[in-house]
Amino acid sequence: MKKITSLLLGAALTFGAFSVPAAAVDSYRIVSPYEDVVWEGDAAWGAYKGNLHTHSTVSDAEMDFNEMILEHYRQGFDFLAMTDHGVTGKAWDEEPTHLPLYLYQYIIGRKTTKLTKEEFEGVTSGTYPVDGAPRGRGMTCVVGGNELNALTLTKCHVNGMFLPPHVGDNYLGYENDHEGAVRLADAADGISFINHPGDWLHSNRDINTVSDPENVGYFADILLKYDSCIGMEVFNERNHVTPYDRILWDNVLMTCLPYGKRVIGFSNNDAHFHSHIDSSFSVFMMPENTEEQIKNTMQSGAFFCVTRELSGNDIIGPAEGFDVRYSEAPYPAFRELTVDGHAVTVRAQDCNKLQWIANGKVIDVKELEEDGEIAYTLNLDEIEGAEDFQYIRCELFGEGGCTLSQALVIDNGAEVKTYTPDTSAKAKAASFFDRIRSLRIFVLIKIIIDSIFH
Ligand SMILES: [Zn+2]
Ligand SMILES: [Zn+2]
Repeated sequence: MKKITSLLLGAALTFGAFSVPAAAVDSYRIVSPYEDVVWEGDAAWGAYKGNLHTHSTVSDAEMDFNEMILEHYRQGFDFLAMTDHGVTGKAWDEEPTHLPLYLYQYIIGRKTTKLTKEEFEGVTSGTYPVDGAPRGRGMTCVVGGNELNALTLTKCHVNGMFLPPHVGDNYLGYENDHEGAVRLADAADGISFINHPGDWLHSNRDINTVSDPENVGYFADILLKYDSCIGMEVFNERNHVTPYDRILWDNVLMTCLPYGKRVIGFSNNDAHFHSHIDSSFSVFMMPENTEEQIKNTMQSGAFFCVTRELSGNDIIGPAEGFDVRYSEAPYPAFRELTVDGHAVTVRAQDCNKLQWIANGKVIDVKELEEDGEIAYTLNLDEIEGAEDFQYIRCELFGEGGCTLSQALVIDNGAEVKTYTPDTSAKAKAASFFDRIRSLRIFVLIKIIIDSIFH
């Protein structure tokens, strides 16, 4: 009898030991794009400041090609992609491709000057001087970048990256047609991301556009159809026309994640002028600063998005009165972002507020009196409903701007859905309308009508 009791007790304990804690621990796993990053020690990875969307007199910008590159170098950038409209970037000491579209730049007296061989060597190796002394670290030249859909009035712009030489040169694009540009990059084995979606949506005039299911579905459809289209800009220049692209990103993430698509957020200065250069950029975590690692990191998402200016909004902040304005203070920076079970630890500097967002809503906030260091662990086991989150992401705010992490995916083991584009009669009618919308004449008439009635 005693033996049977102990057997039963043993079985009960065993059952208990395996069932209850197992359900709590294994119900989901946090998948972080930063999981391979070495944050400290001799093998620590570098934090490299870079920009992947930049203009010059080669297309419609005011600054000469060589000056735009040298000024990025002077301002401490570690890598740069020149992505003039409809011009695929080459090494900076090669003559850029000249398009008839930008002949007016010569007519109004602007020049296009490539780097000399010596300047190119000096800039990429770090021997080129800043304030009279060699900078000491090179700025990597990322070639094959092109802001596609050059001539579109609707600004349906797409950044093609790592395109073969001349692919995309003179691609003027069709109005309201992001997909055509994405398809071009895809066919050339390049990668792409969608530029400043808020500029196309006019979301600065109407915040509701970034949550409109039709608009969210429009971008999600393109991202789901093309593996090579890896994400969208969430910060662009000073965010005057893109203040709510983070909210659009949240909505697109929630639509795409069930299909296993992690939408990467990008941040770029889209510089046309000197004053844009330090407006928005990204910080890549990499063992070494090479073109190949930059490409890999764009795809893995082991990087952070920084902007110097951001307006408040009621949904995810910063709240009214907390507008971030560029003050030449250091930008908020992540020093660590590590996952242990259901806990995520962040160490950050030069910030006074850290917030976590899940499924488009703020779930946790940590604030300091003034800019300083924050070390904070978010334990999802203490957050109600965490098992239903699709992702979490972190934002830092400080005097010097706002910095975002990529999304960390909550993997609950659910089967990944297969995406099948909508081919119903309704969708076909919409696609017919899209073709009309892609005509320049339609857009011109619409602009005239809008300007008369608004
Ligand atoms: Zn653009
Ligand atoms: Zn641009």
